[in-house]
Amino acid sequence: MVDDLYQDIILDHSKRPRNCHPMPDATRTAKGYNPLCGDKLELYLKMENGIVQDVSFVGSGCAISTASASLMTESLKGKTREEAIKLLDKFHELLTTDSPVGKDLGKLVVFCGVRDYPARVKCATLAWHTLKSALTDPGETTTTE
Ligand code: ZN
Repeated sequence: MVDDLYQDIILDHSKRPRNCHPMPDATRTAKGYNPLCGDKLELYLKMENGIVQDVSFVGSGCAISTASASLMTESLKGKTREEAIKLLDKFHELLTTDSPVGKDLGKLVVFCGVRDYPARVKCATLAWHTLKSALTDPGETTTTE
């Protein structure tokens, strides 16, 4: 079971997170906190003409939350705000429902094993909750509660 949860991609991204640095010229930032696990992260977005030009994060958290943030940043570049929100909704659906895994999630499907571990769902969705607040309500600290 643990093998399902920590697939190779998740392990890789938790050990070597991509886009893990502050962004001084970000146009939007948001902070997220998952009190259940203690995961914290700050998200940086550079939006231009409604398109995600760049995205990065810094944070401290468990393997799942770090890998999720890392994979999320890889998935967002070049997407419009609407596409980013659509992806967020799909990711949330992947983790919280039994619906069939969508093809358009790409590498993010590695998190489908997390749906069997309700306590870890909040770890996996923290970065995405934070993304939503960066896109809709920048400057606020989001918690998963
Ligand atoms: Zn966690």
